[in-house]
Amino acid sequence: MITGKKVLLGNTKRKKPVTSKNEEIQNRTSKGSTSKHEPAKVDHARIEKAVREILIAVGEDPDREGLLETPARVARMYAEIFSGLHKDPRIHLKRVFTENYDEIVLVRDIEFHSMCEHHLLPFTGKAHVGYLPNGKVVGLSKLARVVDEVARRPQVQERMTETIANMVEQELGARGVVVLIESSHSCMTMRGIRKAGASCTTSAMRGIFRENLSSRAEILGLILNQNR
Ligand SMILES: [Zn+2]
Repeated sequence: MITGKKVLLGNTKRKKPVTSKNEEIQNRTSKGSTSKHEPAKVDHARIEKAVREILIAVGEDPDREGLLETPARVARMYAEIFSGLHKDPRIHLKRVFTENYDEIVLVRDIEFHSMCEHHLLPFTGKAHVGYLPNGKVVGLSKLARVVDEVARRPQVQERMTETIANMVEQELGARGVVVLIESSHSCMTMRGIRKAGASCTTSAMRGIFRENLSSRAEILGLILNQNR
């Protein structure tokens, strides 16, 4: 029985900063809106057709009253929950302020809703994003916007965590970045092993939080121990 949290804190192994194909696809829009690689906007008609097919395939009657509007509804919903595919979250990190503040900036408990790309089922939870500035700070709400837009794509939690950390590190030139995400996956609770209450924690450390144990302990303490 899974009762506790799956905690994957700290990266003791240094991973090579390779850009996977997955990351490449998800970073398409960051190359500018005129890029020919920009994904097509959401095709509602195509989703409607597909949803109708799924309903038939599972043995439903898509023409019964209750389901008549469902394909169109699902199309609108997918356009909304995958809207992050057509946005570049880095934009929110471009407007920075020059500050002499050199202590940790931490935004805790940023609520997010994402979709697991393996099952197209939601996973929801909280993200905590912290950084140690190097002369540049960004509005606190901007970090929440980055989390929101990265979440609104077909995702896996591990990549979501890394993507946010990379963006904050690269755009702010921060001396250290930490992203910690805690979430519950519907694909674990409503299907498969059906373990309600199991949560999954992932973290990404950059700069001083990766290299310096006491800095890492300090920020993890701030994230995990307050108000709990
Ligand atoms: Zn899943």
